[in-house]
Amino acid sequence: MRSQSHKMTVSIDEHSSHLEQLKAFYNQLDDEGRTIEKLPQQVRGDYQLKAINLTLEHVWKHNEFYRSAMTAAGLQQPAIDSLDQLSSVPLLKKDVIRGDKMKLLCVDPKHIGQVHLTSGTSGKPIYTSYTLADQYVYDLLPKYLELFPESDSDIAAIALPYEFALPGLGFQRLFQFAFGTAILSLGKGGYMAPVDKSLELMKEYQATVLATTPSYAALLAEESERFGIQPGVDIRLRRILLTGEGCSNTFRKRLEQWWGCEVSFFYGSTECGVIAVECKEHQGYHVMEGHVKVEIIDPVSGAPLGYDQTGEIVVTTLLREGMPMVRYRSGDIGFLQQSQCDCGITMDVLHLRGRMENMMNLEGIDYSPFLLEHFLMEIPDVSMWYHFILDQGRLTIETEPFRTQLSDEQLAEKVRSHMLNRTGVDCQVVIKRGLPRTFGKATRVIVK
Ligand SMILES: [Zn+2]
Repeated sequence: MRSQSHKMTVSIDEHSSHLEQLKAFYNQLDDEGRTIEKLPQQVRGDYQLKAINLTLEHVWKHNEFYRSAMTAAGLQQPAIDSLDQLSSVPLLKKDVIRGDKMKLLCVDPKHIGQVHLTSGTSGKPIYTSYTLADQYVYDLLPKYLELFPESDSDIAAIALPYEFALPGLGFQRLFQFAFGTAILSLGKGGYMAPVDKSLELMKEYQATVLATTPSYAALLAEESERFGIQPGVDIRLRRILLTGEGCSNTFRKRLEQWWGCEVSFFYGSTECGVIAVECKEHQGYHVMEGHVKVEIIDPVSGAPLGYDQTGEIVVTTLLREGMPMVRYRSGDIGFLQQSQCDCGITMDVLHLRGRMENMMNLEGIDYSPFLLEHFLMEIPDVSMWYHFILDQGRLTIETEPFRTQLSDEQLAEKVRSHMLNRTGVDCQVVIKRGLPRTFGKATRVIVK
């Protein structure tokens, strides 16, 4: 019979896993008063190699799928001698783990603390199981004090989904536990948190940080005016972190103007957690190299690509015991650069180019929807809501007028000639009103 005790059933302080040895690295950084972000690349590289080898050994010992894949690829043992050798470890495709909640599990199911699911917009969901130590100990080891200036004097509003997926709870834990920041858990338009109440709460508590998606940041700004709350005056944010959907720089600049604060992009996923985030220079994302090793591969051959070469982003998690992701093909496109950033952070810079399946083929040329959005957002007379409709290679743009004196006909012509000028593609433009707003992921591209 279980007896009453005031002690917690689970203790993560007395945890032991393959990751415990990495604490020495972070203890030393603490002692020296240094942040991982500014270490010489070689020092961080040594840490990454050690973390990768610990992960390879862990998955080899505790997961049949990983072990068979590695032995089938000719690996005699779960170890590499240099980071370059990571390419000898097999790649992990989404399709292999879709709909299978056990395949990558590397701990006894009793030790799972939290399960997250991808939204499953493109097929069956992907399940990710975390131990409590994953989320409350190891994930919080690297702090990135340059990239996250937030502290216990901040109030962070989290307007991201808390259901199923990682973002809401992930940001909540990061701010609460790493920085001691108070949280307003707004979610994204759930029935307990309608937009007006969310805005009132942000105003009442004087939120200083907002973590949300690009489309929801636009929606909140738009709605705040309807409820008589002025962004930048009644709610004075210091910064907005955008994640979940990509967007163009011009879309971001509009948000900066509307909210009167810095807007930074954050790149992460439910499967891999944090991956990269923009610094104050906004010249790409610094890879969070304490958490992940990022590689770029040729999406067809799978061969590794060097700096400045565009390909598919592949992620290996460094601080996971429950379900480590080893060489996970993200389906996202981008390229890496060695950091020469003015901010002084030495972690590689990632440039995102969108998702593979979302590329739009117009007259034989592939366009990223973000590039087209960038061109569209250059026109101040259109709103931040639009659709790109692709029908047999023909592009139709639906959008709304925004604070403009132009008639619909004049605006349509302005958009058409601007896009023709920028892309060389002649498209059809339809000016509408009341394009649907969404609390979920905004649908920008419609293929017929
Ligand atoms: Zn930088």
